[in-house]
Amino acid sequence: MLKNKTALVTGSTSGIGLGIARKLAAQGANIVFNGFGDAKEIEALQAEVAKQHGVQTAYHNADMSKPQEIEAMMRFAAERFGAVDILVNNAGIQHVANIEDFPVEKWDAVIAINLTSAFHTTRLALPAMKSRNWGRIINIASAHGLVASAQKSAYVAAKHGIVGLTKVTALETAQTGVTCNAICPGWVLTPLVQKQVDARAAQHGVSIEEAKKGLLAEKQPSGEFVTPDQLGELAVFMCSDAASQVRGVAWNMDGGWVAQ
Ligand code: NAD
Repeated sequence: MLKNKTALVTGSTSGIGLGIARKLAAQGANIVFNGFGDAKEIEALQAEVAKQHGVQTAYHNADMSKPQEIEAMMRFAAERFGAVDILVNNAGIQHVANIEDFPVEKWDAVIAINLTSAFHTTRLALPAMKSRNWGRIINIASAHGLVASAQKSAYVAAKHGIVGLTKVTALETAQTGVTCNAICPGWVLTPLVQKQVDARAAQHGVSIEEAKKGLLAEKQPSGEFVTPDQLGELAVFMCSDAASQVRGVAWNMDGGWVAQ
């Protein structure tokens, strides 16, 4: 379905971004990976995905908190593959603290990586998408793009912000073949959440398994984690022709979190 298309997925060396990159590659899309990690492991990952799906892969190590590096990554993708057809803004970090204790530099980093980076990639990707009259921009927001939790001020602000950016992008592209939508996952067991599980286990003096159950019980009625593969399948749907009139949505896949 996505043969001869190129997908750039930010933060795709791990977790949800990697799950989405794998599913887009399975549909034939070439992949530009981005994110941090061990250089050898990233090289092996690129080779594995390329071989498994018969696609081309590339990698750029742009730090998504740095606009100049984002510009370099977008130039690299355009030079390597002609253009970015599918942009998945996924890179993200978390920091948990009460507002009065929230380190100012952590606030700035969360807003830069989780929100501002998507403005930069979107503004740089749109001209080529519009000129080809086809494009898909998928912003990975969160259940925290729709509802809040205590101690996550920067994250909740950034995720509500990216839902807003999604709607504006959708309106500005409404009469083109470019769509923009957000996906709002609930808990997904990735390294980002494992840190919160570990902190909870230490804080409550319980096992890792009990901490996972406790985390889910608080927010996610299904009692089960969402998986990166499931989110990847939703991204594939958003790239399909059937989804050409799905525009500006914030689509939750969250085990019932925001239905409460
Ligand atoms: P993760 O920690 O497994 O992956 C994050 C990815 O972003 C990694 O590839 C990492 O290298 C990359 N990254 C981090 N900082 C970066 C930077 N400055 N520049 C470039 N890359 C950077 O986390 P994840 O859980 O897969 O999260 C992915 C996205 O999904 C995030 O936007 C997160 O907010 C969102 N999300 C996660 C959950 C969850 O439960 N895990 C729920 C809702 C939304």
